[in-house]
Amino acid sequence: MNVFICQHCGREYDDNTVCTADDCPGNEIVMPTLVEVWSVDSLAECLDGVGESLYGKLWSFVPADGETPKGKAVWNELTDDEKRELLEAISQEYPDLI
Ligand SMILES: [Zn+2]
Repeated sequence: MNVFICQHCGREYDDNTVCTADDCPGNEIVMPTLVEVWSVDSLAECLDGVGESLYGKLWSFVPADGETPKGKAVWNELTDDEKRELLEAISQEYPDLI
């Protein structure tokens, strides 16, 4: 039987070929540079890869008045799936800003 050993956290799995630990450093989604500097409305409007529900969620962070937050301010409000979707959208258009 093959044992899979995660190279990031050292956990061993005999029934898995990927590490499933939430706190594994290999599974952490790193915030792209672009998210740090762009405001949430720009992220929603300027990335073709952002789907309808993520688009709506990004716009939900825009206040009726006052300053629109930067992506980094809301990054932790996104689910892992949404982070991956945003990452994918950015890598399609701005691979240098990941
Ligand atoms: Zn791991």
